[in-house]
Amino acid sequence: MTTTPFGSQAGSASDRAAAYAAAHHSEFLEDLKTLARIPSVSFPGFDPGQVDRSAEAVAALMSKRGLENVELLRIPDAFPYVYGDWLHAPGKATLLLYAHHDVQPAGREELWKSPPFEPTERAGRLYGRGCADDKAGAVAHTSAITSWLETAGELPVNVKVIIEGEEEIGSHNLETFLGRYASKMMADAIVLTDTGNFDHQTPSITVALRGLVALDVTVKSMDHPLHSGMWGGPTPDPTIALAKMIAACVDGKGRMLFPAAYKGVLKPAKAMEHSLKILKYPEKVFRAQSGLNTKTRLMVPAKDILRSSWYRPSFSVNALQASSKKDCANIINDSAWCRMGVRIVPGQEPQAVLSGLKKHLLRNAPWGMEVSFSNESSSPAWTTDTSAPAVDAARKALRKGYGRQAVEMGCGGSIPFVGPFATALKGAPALLIGVEDPLSNPHSENESLHLEMFAKAIASAAHLYGEIAALESVK
Ligand SMILES: [Zn+2]
Repeated sequence: MTTTPFGSQAGSASDRAAAYAAAHHSEFLEDLKTLARIPSVSFPGFDPGQVDRSAEAVAALMSKRGLENVELLRIPDAFPYVYGDWLHAPGKATLLLYAHHDVQPAGREELWKSPPFEPTERAGRLYGRGCADDKAGAVAHTSAITSWLETAGELPVNVKVIIEGEEEIGSHNLETFLGRYASKMMADAIVLTDTGNFDHQTPSITVALRGLVALDVTVKSMDHPLHSGMWGGPTPDPTIALAKMIAACVDGKGRMLFPAAYKGVLKPAKAMEHSLKILKYPEKVFRAQSGLNTKTRLMVPAKDILRSSWYRPSFSVNALQASSKKDCANIINDSAWCRMGVRIVPGQEPQAVLSGLKKHLLRNAPWGMEVSFSNESSSPAWTTDTSAPAVDAARKALRKGYGRQAVEMGCGGSIPFVGPFATALKGAPALLIGVEDPLSNPHSENESLHLEMFAKAIASAAHLYGEIAALESVK
């Protein structure tokens, strides 16, 4: 028997499905363009009818590509989820395949080089709102499924596909949705296609997401502002008090100074450490991508940039106000306000970090100032067991699809639906494998998808079904 350079048997059913996907790539691209022409912006103030139209179009695509029991799942006051399945592989694992069909607003139309809702190919990329985030995710699933059905006449595993309609506005109704449909969603593993690759050549599995605790802090000393000439001297200034409290949160290197800030932080697992070692993110590239001034120093040594933004907690002040630039006068303000947040990492208890931060702020409030907290929010970090068989199957599938070893990466941001989904599915492993790359510009103007990478992502998805089918157990 001959083998391909990546070790799979030539002519295996997975290979035939992947070859079909390659041969029919332009059709799958048309599927994507059809979806991307619908301005399915889920934000308030935009036509909600377009999100419904988008759900209908996703449903039509699922049916066309061989999924069964396709339906729109509705819960009150939420945009529709689209569901479809293929469940004819008795005794085999069931995968829940996730993506979302709603999109961000187009932003500043004049900055788009081609119309945001007219998908346009340029230099190997497809430009348009939703072309990467996340209509490409939905089409990756339908394309891989149809490639199996057209070649083998069946799938080697059972699949359930769920395409959400309100991810971009924070998946507000996810808990309600999972409450009602948890048993319908039940699966052995979840494949979430809504993340990115380290770069367009390096297939990546996102294995950790940071969580976030945040709150508003108000410092108050009197019932109205005072003239700083008449009253300055004996009167304490709430703005200075708040500045001192913020400054007391970190040392000169930006490290947080309250004990709960780092409590429970897990050391990255072996696979994560290995990826940190081989992934190169030079300071020059970080500076270019972040737009940091040349003279501004980094808060960590250049070698720790990825570790710091993926696997360490960080503190930031998001907004700060006392009077305003417009109304600025010679006054001592009666109060000052800020919003601050801590990005937390796996192993940390959100409520413990939040209460530790509040205690620390109170302890450092000078001059008997009145301090109050509001708008408190907290969401946990997420990580997955990188030694789970399902993760290993994903590594093999990505290697076959891309012809390259996959890396494990973290994500400094949060994806609110991952944790609740994994919990509702009783701890089923979650595979975060995406179709974006660092140039995709999701949420910004000129969003785009790297087309060659998209083809490899579809091939990998086809291989993943075969790899999962070959496992004795996915957990
Ligand atoms: Zn997305």
